[in-house]
Amino acid sequence: MLYQLLKKHWGYDEFLPLQQEAVQCVLGGRDSLLVLPTGGGKSLCYQLPALCHPGLAVVVSPLISLMKDQVDAALAMGIPAATWNSTISAEQQRGVRAAIRARKLKLLYVSPERLLTDALFELLDSELPAFVAIDEAHCISQWGHDFRPEYRLLGMLKQRFPGVSLHGFTATATGPVRGDIVASLNMDDPAVLIGNFHRPNLIYHVQQRLPGLNQICSVMERFRGQAGIVYAITRDRVEKVSTLLNQLGFRTRPYHAGMTDADRERNQQALIDDQLDAIVATVAFGMGIDKSNVRYIIHAELPRSLEGYQQETGRAGRDGLEAECWLFYSTGDYLTWQRIVGASAPESRESSLRSLQQMMDYCTSLACRHRLLVGHFGQQLTGDCQSCDVCLGRLTVAEDSLVLAQKILSCVARCRERFGADHITKVLTGSSEAKVLRLGHEKLSTWGLMKQYPRSQIRDWINQLLGQRYLESVPLSGRVEGYPVLRLTDAGRNVLRARATPALSKPVDRTAAVTAAALVDSWEGVDRGLFESLRGLRTQLASAASLPAYIVFSDATLRDLARRRPTEEGMLQDVHGIGQQKAATYGAAVLTLIRDYCGQHQLETNLAAIGRVRRGGQGRIPGSASLAAFPLFDQGLPVPEVAQQLSRANSTVLEYLIDYIAARQITDPTRWVEKPLAETIAVVASYADSDRLRPIYDALHGQVGYEAIKIVVACEKNRAEALTRNLHSEPTR
Ligand code: ADP
Ligand code: MG
Repeated sequence: MLYQLLKKHWGYDEFLPLQQEAVQCVLGGRDSLLVLPTGGGKSLCYQLPALCHPGLAVVVSPLISLMKDQVDAALAMGIPAATWNSTISAEQQRGVRAAIRARKLKLLYVSPERLLTDALFELLDSELPAFVAIDEAHCISQWGHDFRPEYRLLGMLKQRFPGVSLHGFTATATGPVRGDIVASLNMDDPAVLIGNFHRPNLIYHVQQRLPGLNQICSVMERFRGQAGIVYAITRDRVEKVSTLLNQLGFRTRPYHAGMTDADRERNQQALIDDQLDAIVATVAFGMGIDKSNVRYIIHAELPRSLEGYQQETGRAGRDGLEAECWLFYSTGDYLTWQRIVGASAPESRESSLRSLQQMMDYCTSLACRHRLLVGHFGQQLTGDCQSCDVCLGRLTVAEDSLVLAQKILSCVARCRERFGADHITKVLTGSSEAKVLRLGHEKLSTWGLMKQYPRSQIRDWINQLLGQRYLESVPLSGRVEGYPVLRLTDAGRNVLRARATPALSKPVDRTAAVTAAALVDSWEGVDRGLFESLRGLRTQLASAASLPAYIVFSDATLRDLARRRPTEEGMLQDVHGIGQQKAATYGAAVLTLIRDYCGQHQLETNLAAIGRVRRGGQGRIPGSASLAAFPLFDQGLPVPEVAQQLSRANSTVLEYLIDYIAARQITDPTRWVEKPLAETIAVVASYADSDRLRPIYDALHGQVGYEAIKIVVACEKNRAEALTRNLHSEPTR
């Protein structure tokens, strides 16, 4: 039943981790808190149960400006939904009430203050909600970074609607916030479900910032026509960066707390509607934005904490497809933050400074970025992630790290620990600038000692030494506004005595670096030209329906269309993310485009997917639903029987079986297909020169079902692989 709804409305075959558990909590009426990273699929956990319930589900959401999108997305999937907030007219209110009384509505998105103060409240007294979902639940906590006083009102819900279960959803993972949510909502023995914070489809890169905007531009250039977010620290910087990018020909707009609500909303909407290359914003931007196809996040400056950084970068790639996260930092940013934090309340100062130091450590460390991030949230990641600059070999440890560090540190010592990074760099590169000469620093033994390196490289190493605490940056003593100077730490002195060795990195030649696994994976089999045409069609369909493009189809759906290239209505339902409603609304236009395009370009159509669409980077590992079917296949049960036991569709179970055949390396299909038929299929398949099933089907005159063909082809593939392996392992005499 749950799987049928998942397929019918969302067009998905599998649940993401913890979705099923969370759905069960809601259906069972047990209070719950679900903590999943951004993009983890939290919305479905209240939308799906709402479909199963006869009554109305109330969803509390913090941002009025985004409720309309949420409702549009639900409607596009065939789920009756409406909003209730200060922006709707009296007439719309009447409409909503009537729909509630007639029990026609499944989801009602409300702002917290309206839920508890309006006339709506009385109506809900008589039409008791099925349950209340509280999205972005961390807004209730003063410890969180998005505290909203109006969320505090929600503490009354339990009293006001006794017996109605409450379900909180958040991506904020810290313990105190979690405890605060549960306590403030007065939850009753809640189930707390905490997901894995690893997001393998995000590819992390960290670099020291160079002057100008070249680094930012080169990322944006690669993603032209696709959306991104550029974060900067202050309003000033946001305005400046956005203006400069405009001058360089990028469509960007600013977003920060200094603008009017209306301006902010307009710019946000422009991003959602794909009218911008990027929005340039302070951290004020992003919460509640469900846009699934944000393809890159750029931090033009150092973020303030790892929590914030994780949230901000988490806004990329919600569709599970690869997305890039670039961080360009400088020590100057660190000092800017120190100043900002220094002006804040003394209670929070110390922890803010600690967070800042952790952020700097993250930038300068040479450990896997993913591992550091999930580690920060108390989780572990083993092995290489294959999706960060460190693991992809874009950075390597310089073999001569010790000598390089000694040169830098001894220059700091020779300059008597009275100068900043800039001056030290000049001395090391042998500058003859007036200041250097005036101080007589050209006579130091370290002058020109590293002249073969670009200054930016030396600055980077100094940052790394700071991050790894071999150096510290302190105000020059005896001055009030003393400028920061470099000083050796005890650990730094140990390096000079060769008793400790820092790990200094240097960037590698781009061409030598490996391509991220997520990248190769999710474009597999996709015809790029067709993908682009479909993207154009999506824009048209979206603007005709006044909807954001990502609500019409996600990028993942477009890629799957450009991979399978269905030309018949029946094949459309196999596509990832196309449920009944979307097939009915947009199917005809899509099929026509694919027929025309493939005709013109002589592309094969109606391909079976090469593997199913996987959420980026998770490899060919069968999902948990698939694995659950394995013991039943082991018992020799046929597909229809397994389908019945697991209450899944036959077609879904067939996909599980294909996973099973691959996982167990089965080469003999006769358990499922009679021998003579299997042999015939195998012979015909051996003449096929592609992964397509259709030619095999045609060659068999349409007399044999796709099911048997799929099974035999899967077994044949294993046989071919086994054969190749044996050839390679043949002992050489
Ligand atoms: P969150 O609120 O946790 O940040 P969303 O609910 O916005 O995440 O979902 C993120 C994306 O994941 C959406 O594009 C959604 O369609 C997709 N998604 C949700 N559930 C599944 C699923 N079971 N399989 C594939 N994609 C899913
Ligand atoms: Mg969400």
